[in-house]
Amino acid sequence: MIKKWLGNILPQKRNDKTVQYHPFIANIDSFAAEQVLQRLHQAGFNAYLVGGAVRDLLLGIEPKDFDIVTNATPQQICHIFRRSRIVGRRFPIAHVMIGPETIEVTTFRSGGKVRQNKDGRIMHDNHYGTIDQDAMRRDFTCNALYYDVQRQQIIDYHNSVADIKARKIEMIGDPLSRYQEDPVRILRAIRLAGKLGFEIDEATAAPIASCTALLSKEPVSRLFDELLKILFSGHAQSCLKQLTLLGEVDNIHPLLDVMYQATKLPHFHLINHTLAQTDKRIKEGKSVSIGFILATLLWHEVDERWLAAQQSGQSPTAAMHTAITQLKENLDHNWGITHRHSATMREIWLLQAQFLHRIGKRPHRLMTHPRFRAAYDFLLLLATNNERFAKTAQWWKNFQAAESEQRWQMTQPTQNNTYKNSSTKKKRRPSHKKIKEKPTHHLDLSNVSFDDE
Ligand code: ATP
Ligand code: MG
Repeated sequence: MIKKWLGNILPQKRNDKTVQYHPFIANIDSFAAEQVLQRLHQAGFNAYLVGGAVRDLLLGIEPKDFDIVTNATPQQICHIFRRSRIVGRRFPIAHVMIGPETIEVTTFRSGGKVRQNKDGRIMHDNHYGTIDQDAMRRDFTCNALYYDVQRQQIIDYHNSVADIKARKIEMIGDPLSRYQEDPVRILRAIRLAGKLGFEIDEATAAPIASCTALLSKEPVSRLFDELLKILFSGHAQSCLKQLTLLGEVDNIHPLLDVMYQATKLPHFHLINHTLAQTDKRIKEGKSVSIGFILATLLWHEVDERWLAAQQSGQSPTAAMHTAITQLKENLDHNWGITHRHSATMREIWLLQAQFLHRIGKRPHRLMTHPRFRAAYDFLLLLATNNERFAKTAQWWKNFQAAESEQRWQMTQPTQNNTYKNSSTKKKRRPSHKKIKEKPTHHLDLSNVSFDDE
C-alpha cells in the first residue's frame, strides 16, 4: 500500500519502465556475428545482438556492422576466441576476428561509477553491470534494443520499438547531461536523423546548441572519424540539413566548419555537388575515395595559400608546395586526418599546379602519374565553378582526346599551347614512349576514379 503510494508521488525514471519482449525472427547476414553469439552461449554466457544492427534489422535496412554485448568480460571473451584483442582505454572492449570480419563485443556496463571531468565528460567507465543497466547507458532509445537469437525475441527497456515505428530519435535520460557526458552524441543524433530520416525529439534537440562548443574539447581523431561517418553515410546531404541544430559553429574542426558553411551554399557549389555525387555513388554500392572528397572539401584552405604564395613571386608548383607545407601541421595534428588520406589529398592538389605546365615532356609524363585521373577529375570539378580553371581543364580535355601526333604538337613551345589539327606538318616526336590514355570528356563525378586509394 505504502509502496504504491510512494510510487505515485515519486518521479518515474526511464529505467522504471517495464521491459517489453517482442517476438522477432531476424536474418543475421553475418557468419561472424552468428559464430560469436553461438560460441559465447556454448561457453555459458549471455550474449545479444545490440544497438544499430537491431534497429536496422527492424527497419529492413542492411546493418552497417553487428555489435554484440555479453556478460563475459573482455578477458573471458579473448579466452574463448583465439583471434581477438582488447582495445580502448576508456571503455575496454574486445574485437573478435572471424574470417575477414571483425565483431565488436562489449561487456554490459553499469554506467554507475563512471569518472567524469569538470564538464561532466565521462573519462572512464569500465564497471561491468547487468543488461538493464547497460540499456540505460546507451545513447538513444532506438539504439538500445537487444536481440536474443536463441529465443528469437527483442528485449526492449525503453519503449524503443515504438520510437522506431514513430521514426523518432529520443535520448535516454536527461539530454543535457548525456551530451555533457559525451558531446559526440550530438553528431550521432545528427547522423542518425539524416541517415534514417528520423525526427529528433524536441527535448533531445533542445540542448544541442548550448553543448556544441563542448565538441572542441574532444580528441580531433574522434571528431574526424565521426565527421567521416556523416560524409560517407550515403545521406550526407540530409545529415547536413540537421547541422543547423548546432547553432554557431566556429573553430571546432575545419571539416565541421566546412560542412556547416555548405548548408548556406547553393546546391551547385563545388562542395554540395561533390556530396550529392558521393551520396549517389554510395547508394549505388560504388566505391568512394575519402582523399578525393577531402581534397574537395578543404580546397579553399589550400587555394588561398596557393594564390598568396604565387603573388609573392613563386612559380605555381613551388607555391603549391608552400601552401601544402603550411597546411601539413594542421592536416596531421589539428585535424586528425590519417596519413593515407592526406597523402591522396596532397597529390591531387600538387597536380593542379602541374597541370599549368603544358610545354615539352611534362604533360606527357603527367598522364602516367597514378593520381592523374583523380587530379584531372578534380580539375574538371574546379572548372565547373571557377573560370580560373576552365581554360586549363579545356586544354587537358583536348590533350587527352588528341592522337599522339597532335599531343606532341600541342606541347611545342612555338604552338603557344593552342590545339592544331592533324593536317599540320609532321615534326620530330618526343623520345619517350607513346602514352595510351583513355580520353575523358565528362564533368560528371559518377565516373571519377574514386577508388584510387
Ligand atoms: P551505425 O549504423 O552507424 O553502425 P550504430 O548506432 O550501430 O550506428 P555504433 O557506433 O556502431 O553506432 O555503436 C553501436 C551502439 O553502441 C549504438 O547503437 C549505441 O547503442 C552504442 N553507442 C555508440 N556510441 C555511443 C555513445 N557515444 N554513447 C552511448 N552509446 C553509444
Ligand atoms: Mg553499428
